[in-house]
Parts: sequence; C-alpha cells; structure tokens
Amino acid sequence: LTSMLESEQSLPSETSDGFRIRLMINTGLAVEMSGSPAARIDGVGLYRTEVPFMMHQRFPSEKEQTRIYREQLQGFAPLPVVMRTLDIGGDKSLPYFPIEEENPFLGWRGIRVTLDHPEVLMVQLRAMLRAAEGLDNLRILLPMVTSVEEVDTVCRLLDRAIQELRDDGIQVERPLLGVMLEVPAVIYQLEALASRVDFFSVGSNDLIQYLLAVDRNNARVSGLYDACQPAVLRALDHIARESRRLNVSASVCGELAGDPIGALLLMGMGYRVLSMNAPNLSRVRAAIRRVSMEGAQNLVSDVLALHSLTETRELVYQRMKEWE
Ligand code: PEP
Ligand code: MG
Repeated sequence: LTSMLESEQSLPSETSDGFRIRLMINTGLAVEMSGSPAARIDGVGLYRTEVPFMMHQRFPSEKEQTRIYREQLQGFAPLPVVMRTLDIGGDKSLPYFPIEEENPFLGWRGIRVTLDHPEVLMVQLRAMLRAAEGLDNLRILLPMVTSVEEVDTVCRLLDRAIQELRDDGIQVERPLLGVMLEVPAVIYQLEALASRVDFFSVGSNDLIQYLLAVDRNNARVSGLYDACQPAVLRALDHIARESRRLNVSASVCGELAGDPIGALLLMGMGYRVLSMNAPNLSRVRAAIRRVSMEGAQNLVSDVLALHSLTETRELVYQRMKEWE
C-alpha cells in the first residue's frame, strides 16, 4: 500500500471526473520544508508562526523573525505561503510569556493576545513584509477572530507597518489578508468579514471544539467530538455556500482536511483547497482520485438530510466501503 501511495504522489489530486483539489501543507518546523519533493503540493496553507517562537528563549527580534520567514517564503516560492500571526494561549504557551487562566480555551488566545500587545504584532507584521521583499507569495492569516473590530484594528496596524517599511525605502505590496474561521461567532458574520479580507481558512479543530463545547482531550466527552455531528456538517456546508456566494475563497486547514473521509465531505461541500500535515497528503490524494465529484456531492446532500450522529456515521462508512 505504501508504495502504491508513493507512486500516486506525483499524480494530480483530481477526482475521477476531473475536478482538481488543491492540496497544501501545514508547516511550522523548518524540517518540513525539505519534506518530500516528489509530492505535488500547491503551497503552504498554514504556517504556524508560534512554533519558531516556542523554540526561542525570548520573543525573537524583528531581524530573527525576518530571517525565519524569508527561509519559509523562499523555500516554497512561487507557491503561496499562508503565515498565521502568533497563535498562543489555549494549549500553546511560550516559556517566556506564561499565560495562566482557569479556562484557557475561552480566554486570552490568538489575535486577542497580539491585539493587547500591538508591539508584538507590529514586529511580526514588519518581519513578514520584509521577508516577502521581491517575492509575492506571502499571505497573512489571523487566528481566533471573533469580531470585525479585531480585523479592522489589524488592517490599520498592517497599513502602518507597510508605511513604515516604505518610509525605509523597502518595496512592499499589501499581502492578501485572511481570517481563520474557528470561533462559531464568525459563521454569522461572513458577509461583514468578506468585505474586509481576501480569504477564509476554516480551523476545524477549534471550530468543532467550540461548536460542540467538547474538549477532545477529555476522555469523558471526546466521543462527542466528531465531524459527522449534524451541527458540524451544517456549519461547514453553510461556510462553503456563503463563501461561494460572497466570492471569497475558503480553504480548510484543521485536521479534518487531512482525514480522507473529512476531505471527501469537504470537497463535496465545495471546498477546493485543503491544507494538512504533510504525512497525510498521500492518503488524501488517493481518496480524492478514487471518487467522483458527483459522488462526493451526493454523499453531502444525503448526510445533510440526516439528523443524528449515528445515522450519519453509518451512511458515511457505508459509502466509503463502496468506494474502496
Ligand atoms: C484549527 O483550529 O483547526 C487550526 C488549524 O489551528 P490550530 O490547530 O493551530 O489551533
Ligand atoms: Mg485553531
């Protein structure tokens, strides 16, 4: 099986009826860059910048960050690299910036932290822009967005960072800006967000956890954490439809995209860009190549008509067997 998957690595991620799905990778560690050159990828869908921050003893300087980001952007150019601004809090902390809270997943996370410390965000934005000089593959992604004010504030800071660099004589273009859809509140603000940003990226890990109010690392309730929950499927389908209507590209970068069943469901909903950990690429590609878009779309309309997790799971597994 491994050799079969390997031989498929160089084949396009295309359904049997010719629909192409763009597969991207999630990165953070420099080693991933040297990954598997044979595997066809369409870029980096999520570069978790907190990873290099975690490997330092203090906040990396603007110069250090510029070097790290440049390596990432150059390593993948001309393919796009979606760099997410620092996403700490929740389960991710920096040894030199401890956050202690009773309820960290409902607390100071992602953009909330960096908007309270605009000096940290400004250094990071300037480093990203400097790193992108002469390349045009930088995209910037904001984690844990809940409200449009957060986006408006980041836009002002981004414009200021661009102006500061231009004043220094550095040629910078405004990169495409996107928001993570991972807090359920944004599902009801897609139109307002679409008028402010260029793309959406669904963070299914957090979106599912918050939609269902389930910590998947808590054994007592982790059985409830399932993308086949009707509410989760409806939310994901709604995002796909709305993004299409609003003409904003929506990709998925949570674990669901790297799961063959998840990938087929997402594809059937209309997602055309999936970003995953590199080791999942080959099995997702193989699953996509085995089915037709029509089959995936039919599966989605059939599951959306169901009302329970049990029925949904049953139907999905039955369909997967037929496709094996
Ligand atoms: C997500 O929440 O799905 C996501 C991709 O972000 P992270 O896993 O880094 O929280
Ligand atoms: Mg997340």
